[in-house]
Amino acid sequence: MNVKDPFLRPGWKNTAAVVVTGGTEMRLVTFQRVGNSGAFDESAPVMPLFGIGAPMRGQESGDGLFSFFGEEVGILSKDGTKILPIANTGISYPDMNTLLAEHNPQEMEVLRAAAEAMEAPGGFTEDSEEAVDTDYLAVGTQAKILSPIPVPLQDVICLGLNYTEHAEEAAVYAKDSFTARDRYPVYFAKRVNRSPADGDPVPAYADLVDSLDYEAELAVIIGKDVKNITPEEVQECIFGYTILNDFSARNLQTRHTQWYLGKSLDGYTPMGPCIVTADEFSFPPRLKISSRVNGELRQDSMTDMLIFGIDYIIADLSRGMTLRAGTIISTGTPKGVGMGFDPPKFLHAGDTVTCEIEGIGTLTNTISD
Ligand code: MG
Repeated sequence: MNVKDPFLRPGWKNTAAVVVTGGTEMRLVTFQRVGNSGAFDESAPVMPLFGIGAPMRGQESGDGLFSFFGEEVGILSKDGTKILPIANTGISYPDMNTLLAEHNPQEMEVLRAAAEAMEAPGGFTEDSEEAVDTDYLAVGTQAKILSPIPVPLQDVICLGLNYTEHAEEAAVYAKDSFTARDRYPVYFAKRVNRSPADGDPVPAYADLVDSLDYEAELAVIIGKDVKNITPEEVQECIFGYTILNDFSARNLQTRHTQWYLGKSLDGYTPMGPCIVTADEFSFPPRLKISSRVNGELRQDSMTDMLIFGIDYIIADLSRGMTLRAGTIISTGTPKGVGMGFDPPKFLHAGDTVTCEIEGIGTLTNTISD
């Protein structure tokens, strides 16, 4: 075995790690303004708005006026209470996908300065005060945080069985469906028609799903198109990280040879609450990751315990396949999912799942009927 070729080393992980420090934390969110009525209507018709390009949802307000609520990109304050729409900094992108594809270093510097100003003691710096003083939105009353990428450009690329103890619990549950392959990663895809946000319900599909399960995962967001990159080059293409709950219908997942259907039901890929830019963390990120169901701790691990590390995964995927800006790669889930218990602890309507990753936040969803 040639140790100079990481692609031939089973279990190879993160030997190319380079620690980056000193980044300015920036938390980007997709949000929607709350109208005067305070109501948010997901089912409101989508309206084209004078060529701006962003889909806008119209809503009839009480006084008969028709107001528009588009999806916008903003900077979330560290305490999670306020949002600065990036348009207020003079940078305008209709949505997160476009920002991921088209941002440049100069724009990122402007956004970082605005993010820093948000955290300045006493409120705002002298320079920034005029620009942003009246332009912050209060989370909840003025803005609803959506999934950071509500409509991914492509299916999410997922890692299966990428934490050792999770691979073991999966094999005990259904060996035929979860045969661990120690030499190469298990990749699969997850269709996401629309990603629920933190706080959004996740459907139970009780007539279809009898074994709904949760999987807390660190998701990597790619920030530039790459192909045929080495593990050492991977850091340059990572825009940031978010939390993804890889909800899974185990009965559908294990009924078919491929896991696709059991992973792809509408509403099964909540993400959020924000994308934290990559420079905030050392590489690979070494962060506590956990999940709780109705307050009970189920998963509890670290994001650097992956069998195949982030640098290996992305370099491996990029060999022969372009990874486009906006690509979401979910790195796998640790031990402690519902199928790992005897008897299994699957989810039912009314159950609440909270996934947490240190430095990113929490992602909470309740199962609906
Ligand atoms: Mg998963």
